[in-house]
Amino acid sequence: GTQVEWKEFEKSKVYMADLESGLHYLLRVELATHKTLEGEELKIFKDFITVVAKLFPGRQSVVKLLETLLEWLVSLPLEKIPYDAILDLVNNRMRISGLYLSEQVQWVGCQGSSVALRGYPCSLWTLFHVLTVQAANRPDALANTGFEDDPLAVLQTMRRYIGTFFGCQECGKHFEEMAQESLNQVKSVDEALLWLWRKHNQVNARLTGSMSEDPMFPKTQWPTPDLCPTCHEEQEGLHVWDEQMVLAFLKQHYGASNISPKYSS
Ligand code: FAD
Repeated sequence: GTQVEWKEFEKSKVYMADLESGLHYLLRVELATHKTLEGEELKIFKDFITVVAKLFPGRQSVVKLLETLLEWLVSLPLEKIPYDAILDLVNNRMRISGLYLSEQVQWVGCQGSSVALRGYPCSLWTLFHVLTVQAANRPDALANTGFEDDPLAVLQTMRRYIGTFFGCQECGKHFEEMAQESLNQVKSVDEALLWLWRKHNQVNARLTGSMSEDPMFPKTQWPTPDLCPTCHEEQEGLHVWDEQMVLAFLKQHYGASNISPKYSS
C-alpha cells in the first residue's frame, strides 16, 4: 500500500483537515454508491446538507460550497437527483466560483496505524460532536430551516444519515437501536450533546478488543483523565462522571476555537 507520512498532532485538539476530509469522503465516495437520490433518501440527504451548511464552523470557501449545494438541492424541482449531478456540482461547477473542498483525504487526528483503520468513521463522529456543540452555542443558526427550536435537529439528522448512507450497515443498526432506546428523553441542546457523548462511549466499550480497534489508539472511555481531570470522580470506590464538567469540556473541545487549521490547505 501507499506509505503515508505520519502527521504529528495533539489529542486535545480537533483538526479541520479531518472534518473536511470527512465531507470529501462523504460527498465523493460514500454517496457515489447511490446512483440516484429520490423520495426518503433525497429528503434525508437534503436535511443532512441543511444542518451541515448552517452549523459547520469551517472555512468560508467550504461553508459557501455547502450553502450553494443546499440552495441547489432546495431549488431543484426534481423528485430524483442523479448522483453524477451532485458530483459535477461539487467537483466542477463550484470550482469555477472559487468554492472548494479538498481533493484528497488527509487524516490528522483521525489517522490510523494502517489505512484500514480509523479515518472516515472517526471523522464522522468528530463532525457530529462538532455539530451538536455548534447547535448549543448558536441557537439561531437553524432559523427558517424547519429545524428551529428542535433540540434533536442534529441527532435525528445524524441518525437518519447513518441509517441510510453510512457504509457500515452494522453500525447503522446499532445506532438505531440506541436512538430508539433513549433519544426521546433528550429535551435540550445540552442534553443532545451529552447523549452523543454517552452513546459514543457505549460504542467504544463494545468495540474494545474488536477488529476495528487500532492498537495505537485503544478504545477508551473518553475524555480520559489526562484530557479532563475534573470530569472524573470516585464515589464509594466506583468511577463516576461529573456530567457538568463533561458538558463544559465537550463545549470547549469541540468548539470552533479548538479546531486547528494545521494540515488543511
Ligand atoms: P472513534 O470512536 O471514531 O472516535 C473518534 C475520536 O472521537 C476519538 O479519537 C476521540 O478523540 C473522540 N472520542 C472518543 N470517544 C468519544 C466520546 N464518547 N465523546 C466524544 N468524543 C469522543 N464500528 C464497529 O465496528 N461497530 C459498530 O457498531 C460501529 N458503530 C458506529 C456508529 C457510528 C455512528 C459511527 C460514526 C461509527 C461506528 N463504528 C462502529 C466505527 C467506530 O465507532 C470507530 O469510529 C472506528 O472504530 C474508529 O475508531 P477511532 O479509534 O478512530 O475512534
